Amino acid sequence: MSASTMKILEGGCLCGAVRYRVEGAPRWSAHCHCKDCRRASGAPFVTYAGFLPARLQWTKGRPKDFNSSPGVTRSFCATCGSPLAYEGDRWPDEIHIHVGTLDHPEAIQPQVHVYTVHQIPWLQLADGLPKVPMPPSEAKKK
Ligand SMILES: [Zn+2]
Ligand SMILES: [Zn+2]
Repeated sequence: MSASTMKILEGGCLCGAVRYRVEGAPRWSAHCHCKDCRRASGAPFVTYAGFLPARLQWTKGRPKDFNSSPGVTRSFCATCGSPLAYEGDRWPDEIHIHVGTLDHPEAIQPQVHVYTVHQIPWLQLADGLPKVPMPPSEAKKK
């Protein structure tokens, strides 16, 4: 995707109460296998795309926020529970969209799997993408 193609992507929750629009190319996209994302979504892993917060606009309704750990805000639809976005103090200039809530998730190409140290063993990955067992910033804290 070239910088000149100003892309607009739309998405929303399952019930339609919350809708959003993001503009431009994401900074990155990754599959996260960490335990918190797994529990928050109920899925084996969550696919995110990172955008500048100013690029995201809530076009219908507003999500409810939940602080899942210090400095981490997870936003979801208060009616149907769909997880929609993630913001963390570790990424001050980004909002992470749940790619699965986009109307056209295929428009974003994930680049990497992260936190694969927590990957569920029965999940077989054959997409050829690099795997980062634990991001370096996190490993340092332990
Ligand atoms: Zn909803
Ligand atoms: Zn995660």
